[in-house]
Amino acid sequence: MSVLEELQNRSGNACELCGATDELKVYEVPPISTGGVDGSILACGTCIGQIENADTMDPNHWRCLNDSMWSEHDAVKVVAWRMLSRLKDEGWPKDLLDMMYLEDEALEWAKATGEGLSESEKIVHRDANGAILENGDNVVLIKDLKVKGSSMVAKQGTAVRRISLDRENAEYIEGKVDGQQIVIITKYVKKT
Ligand SMILES: [Zn+2]
Repeated sequence: MSVLEELQNRSGNACELCGATDELKVYEVPPISTGGVDGSILACGTCIGQIENADTMDPNHWRCLNDSMWSEHDAVKVVAWRMLSRLKDEGWPKDLLDMMYLEDEALEWAKATGEGLSESEKIVHRDANGAILENGDNVVLIKDLKVKGSSMVAKQGTAVRRISLDRENAEYIEGKVDGQQIVIITKYVKKT
């Protein structure tokens, strides 16, 4: 069974956030390390659009979280937590957040994208041109890099797909080069 089919079964073919039944898609909850069914939710176009573009948030749409925040699936709870955090200045989302309970591991996952932190608290990763890097972005190396602890040199021009950000340090990202997970310094990459 595909991830889509499994999620359709799990959700009864409805958006796991708002219950809508059209434009349903698999939304992989970033940072995508778990993947598969446990790391994804089934969500509608409206929800995904607003998750991915904070400027289009319609707070009232997210009243649906009142129900979906009690989901038994961590991936759903993580997205609920993030949207409530994003909207917490509205008041009611803050109350829901206070009621919500996440296990430590799920909470860490929820916080991984920096949602809900003020700009100054947030660690922002930028590439050589100052473009903001996000988990899951693809980058290209703009310089030959010696890989620490090995004789390998990652060549200039190498594409690195689906990077993950170092949450403690704005200068580091991680990604796979030749099948090996390496740490890369942000100023030597360009977002593609
Ligand atoms: Zn929805």
